Amino acid sequence: MTGLQHFNNAIITKKKIINSDLCLINFEVENWHKHVPGQYSEICLTAENGYQAIRPYSIASSPDEKSVTFLIERINNGEVSNFLYDISTEGDNFQVSNPIGKRFILQNKKIPIFVASGSGIAPFISMSKYLANKNKRFYMYHWSKNFSGLVIYEENKSYINSLYFPNITRNKPPNWTGGDSRINSKTFNNLDLNNQYEFYVCGSDFFVENALDIISNLGKKFDIYTERFGSF
Ligand SMILES: Cc1cc2nc3c(=O)[nH]c(=O)nc-3n(C[C@H](O)[C@H](O)[C@H](O)COP(=O)(O)OP(=O)(O)OC[C@H]3O[C@@H](n4cnc5c(N)ncnc54)[C@H](O)[C@@H]3O)c2cc1C
Repeated sequence: MTGLQHFNNAIITKKKIINSDLCLINFEVENWHKHVPGQYSEICLTAENGYQAIRPYSIASSPDEKSVTFLIERINNGEVSNFLYDISTEGDNFQVSNPIGKRFILQNKKIPIFVASGSGIAPFISMSKYLANKNKRFYMYHWSKNFSGLVIYEENKSYINSLYFPNITRNKPPNWTGGDSRINSKTFNNLDLNNQYEFYVCGSDFFVENALDIISNLGKKFDIYTERFGSF
């Protein structure tokens, strides 16, 4: 046990650097309790002198997968994210808590709409894989600085501009057919507002506040769930 949460021994089985900001890390976690899409775990680093640093990370794998995946965004001077991105490697041992949180879990009672910026896509990787396995429909809006940051583009590209709305705000590739503007009052114009939707919004504090304003101004009352990763 470490602190209040129950932590399990975990070993990195795979690490994939996506770009200069993002990496995906797979862990094999002892005694892993199946999670509900949308939950997070705490990752604990322990230094040789016993110093520990703990941060929460959304679980990006679906509940059916054997390994537990996290999408880590490297933050300038960030203690844990830098270690995970720069230094950690396959075979390293960590501690990962049991899944936490009921506030942001997938309800799946209405049509889910995922709204993410940057690494805020992490819980929606889990949710969308889970729904895709059940042939359930969802909408996904994702903003990224560059193409490589659209980490689940390949899985969703056949739905581009119908159910999947990727947006690149800085380095668009040539012939890019997705969006290129920031979230704004026209973003959700394609939705039939007479439908029943549940909105999930995840990303920086600033992005979540902005998205909440825009969704609240659509003129209908929707279920809205938010996850804030911090101020950046
Ligand atoms: C429920 C929850 C789920 C999360 N899931 C994810 C996830 O899936 N992937 C992910 O990458 N992160 C996620 N985060 C953010 C993560 O927990 C850390 O806050 C982040 O990795 C920074 O930690 P650090 O130790 O690297 O930085 P710290 O050493 O804690 O902070 C260093 C400096 O950076 C600032 N800072 C803190 N957070 C950020 C940030 N996000 N961006 C820019 N500056 C920051 C701090 O104010 C501080 O000045 C989640 C946060 C929460 C609350």
